Amino acid sequence: MHVTAIIAAGGRGERLGAGRPKQLLDLAGRPILQRSVDAFLASPRIDEVVVVLPQDLASAPPAYLRSDRKPLIIGVGGARRQDSVAAGFDLVAGRSDILVVHDAARPLVDGDTIARTIDAAAESGAAVAALPSRDTVKEARFADGRAWAVARTIDRAGIYLAQTPQAFRRDVLGEAVAMGRRGVEVTDEAMLAERAGHTVRLVEGSPRNLKITTPEDLLMAEALLQDARGTELRVGTGYDLHRLVEGRPLILGGVTIPFERGLAGHSDADAVCHAVTDAVLGACGAGDIGRLFPDTDARWKGARSVELLREAGRRVREAGATVVNLDVVVIAERPKLVPHLATMCATVADALGIEVSRVGIKGKTNEGVDAAGRGEAIAVHATALVRVAVR
Ligand code: MG
Repeated sequence: MHVTAIIAAGGRGERLGAGRPKQLLDLAGRPILQRSVDAFLASPRIDEVVVVLPQDLASAPPAYLRSDRKPLIIGVGGARRQDSVAAGFDLVAGRSDILVVHDAARPLVDGDTIARTIDAAAESGAAVAALPSRDTVKEARFADGRAWAVARTIDRAGIYLAQTPQAFRRDVLGEAVAMGRRGVEVTDEAMLAERAGHTVRLVEGSPRNLKITTPEDLLMAEALLQDARGTELRVGTGYDLHRLVEGRPLILGGVTIPFERGLAGHSDADAVCHAVTDAVLGACGAGDIGRLFPDTDARWKGARSVELLREAGRRVREAGATVVNLDVVVIAERPKLVPHLATMCATVADALGIEVSRVGIKGKTNEGVDAAGRGEAIAVHATALVRVAVR
């Protein structure tokens, strides 16, 4: 049974702030979109993932939308959510038996909910994760276009609030997509399947699987992720030094910096990436760069250090940890690093899959003292604060 996840992230909802689409906002160290996508990449029930993005994002997708774990396809979304799902459906319909539609704004979805939805859809054709209403439900009477008074009370016992994931057999979603294309407007795909006369099963959703639409939702999601009983903060430090020699490019923080000399070493000798890698690994108790990427291992031969940092970031996430922030000091008499610091921060942040505001890099000279001060070497100190899961 081939199962495809379609993550609908085509929206431009900028209500949450900073003029950025809400799915790109940071949630406890990782963008909302990344958390949603990672949940499906990590699910053993999912064979491939389609992420439907607005045009501008789809043409320059963030680095965390690359996966070597399973196929990850980027699609371009339409104006409405149902258009985005239709676009995703078109990309994979030929090979999928079950399609799981998920809203990128629900980053806390768990593997069990995904599995329950798939199982029910395989059995009955369509299924939606939902929660019984815990509040009493009132229908409103309107006056001057706004809710003014209670028209009636609806029996709460029969009321379920729909979440995503929603899963469908291919033929059922195909019919729903075709109906949407004929102009039927809906707020979720299950509605289209209902209208087409299909049984849509209700499966148990999760109260944690909240939809982030307001700043309060973001706070609640952060609180759920940073539950003090389940995590703690740990600090790690990293240090590296390489000699400056003729005939080598100078690469720091993944950025090639114009200079008449470069750092000597087996690899690209990127001392910033090396020190940062050791700092984040150290905070997680996950070893160090030499043990994880030995230069005797052919897999890492010739690898750019920023790619090793990316791999270290992946392992940190797999251990259930998130990098809270990084602070880095580069001791170099020359060249002047100031013009390159912003690019270095962005490159390191991208490799670790964290917000650039969580990375600080600064340059210092050594006042002419010692090897770094005489311009014979560049040294780097890095400190990482990491939130790790404790059980
Ligand atoms: Mg090194």
